[in-house]
Amino acid sequence: SSEHVLAALQMGLQASEQQQWTAFPLLGDADVSTGDSQPVRNPADHADIVGQVIEATPEHVERALQLAEAAAARWANTPVADRAACLNRMAELMEDHMPALMGLAVREAGKTLSNAIAEVREAVDFCRYYAAQIVANFDNATHQPLGPVVCISPWNFPLAIFIGEVTASLAAGNPVLAKPAEQTNLIAAYAVRLLHEAGVPRDVLQLLPGRGEIVGAALTSDPRIQGVIFTGSTEVAQIINRTLAKRGEDVVLVAETGGQNAMIVDSSALPEQVVTDVLSSAFDSAGQRCSALRVLYLQSDIADKVIAMIKGAMAELTVGNPAQLNTDVGPVIDAEAQAGLLAHIDKMKSRARWTYQTPLTEACQHGTFVAPTLFEIDNLSDLTREVFGPVLHVLRFEANELDKVVAEINSTGYGLTHGIHSRIDETINDIVSKIKVGNVYVNRNIVGAVVGVQPFGGEGKSGTGPKAGGPFYLYRLTRARWQPKLALQPV
Ligand code: NAD
Repeated sequence: SSEHVLAALQMGLQASEQQQWTAFPLLGDADVSTGDSQPVRNPADHADIVGQVIEATPEHVERALQLAEAAAARWANTPVADRAACLNRMAELMEDHMPALMGLAVREAGKTLSNAIAEVREAVDFCRYYAAQIVANFDNATHQPLGPVVCISPWNFPLAIFIGEVTASLAAGNPVLAKPAEQTNLIAAYAVRLLHEAGVPRDVLQLLPGRGEIVGAALTSDPRIQGVIFTGSTEVAQIINRTLAKRGEDVVLVAETGGQNAMIVDSSALPEQVVTDVLSSAFDSAGQRCSALRVLYLQSDIADKVIAMIKGAMAELTVGNPAQLNTDVGPVIDAEAQAGLLAHIDKMKSRARWTYQTPLTEACQHGTFVAPTLFEIDNLSDLTREVFGPVLHVLRFEANELDKVVAEINSTGYGLTHGIHSRIDETINDIVSKIKVGNVYVNRNIVGAVVGVQPFGGEGKSGTGPKAGGPFYLYRLTRARWQPKLALQPV
């Protein structure tokens, strides 16, 4: 029941506050628990030190690569049922460890309590889904693993995406070198230890905390790496693309990247529903979702009314410590992200028709908070790059301008999540057929990937596919081998 979940939440936070967590290189044959360490600070209150991180050195990377190569054949030949059993056991372990994992999601990544629950649940779903997929569709003979792969993940879903990448790679039979985001090593290290407890051999899953441009770059450029499973910004995906192109080999790259996500609202839409969906799409997780709403197109007949309602709802948002149950919007991840967002807001204040911001209270003094912000603008010329935070840009359009709006959205080159609010079937079908996007949402909020039900991934600058949590994902992490069961007659 929800009371049990809340009790577990509070316990988890209390337990995690008493703990100092650590992340360090977990190599197949050693824990590297000594060395220079750096503190990890809670983005909601920098005085709270959540734990310490020791980064991997070039020697650790080399050792991990050797061990992964040596482990590849053994893991590839491990029956799929045994690999699946490890993943199912991991799902159970994460459920048992939910309070601690949630505590880390809140304190290390600034997630609100409800986002922290969703984070763990999605990670659990990934384990069970990929386990079921290999049992149903794979056998060791026909689906050959790629070999050692690197999983590079972002901080904004520090458990769910990390686990999704790692468990898919393991399910498909590949040894994994995991390189989580610099900001969220602690929760990743916790998860890797649980996967070892679940039965994944230590040399099959190794953890290499460190900077992307050092550890990440060393791994992606190494000829022993056969696959790169990446989720993060479009810019870093482009760097990795160039690295792999230079290697000139057939290396699999799965890249899930950024978006410039838009919603089109025509005058037949239901304003109350629009406002609820706009608020959750733009400001949930402090706008730090790849799928978050950045650009809202309102048909001019209803624009004033909807804008007034959105401002009213924004005024009611509670921005503050995500460990408090009533908080709607927590901090952004770190001072660098905050500075980038504040610079964008400053620039737009002078260019926009008007600006509205949710007032920040004293609760936000000691953390990296950004006020939820709304601008009205005339075109997308200031939005060439993804704005990754609680900032929403509104534009107006006339009834005869729908094609122009769709063309403008398509021209950004991003295609991750777009939404439509309309009660006219023809309008909906017309937009759906013309808009270039991986996930399209009609008359609802635009945040939401549901493992196994609503696979997630983008087009263009937003990703290479295949969609995570969908039926084709694991195939990309293997090479099919044709072994006819019947003798073929020569023709
Ligand atoms: P980022 O691109 O800065 O970092 C992602 C990862 O790449 C980190 O682990 C980082 O250390 C590593 N990295 C950085 N430079 C590297 C290099 N030169 N070589 C190899 N690895 C390197 O992204 P972020 O700030 O951690 O995450 C936010 C971004 O992720 C946003 O753009 C968001 O839209 C995107 N994202 C996309 C999806 C999706 O499914 N499409 C999901 C979540 C986040």
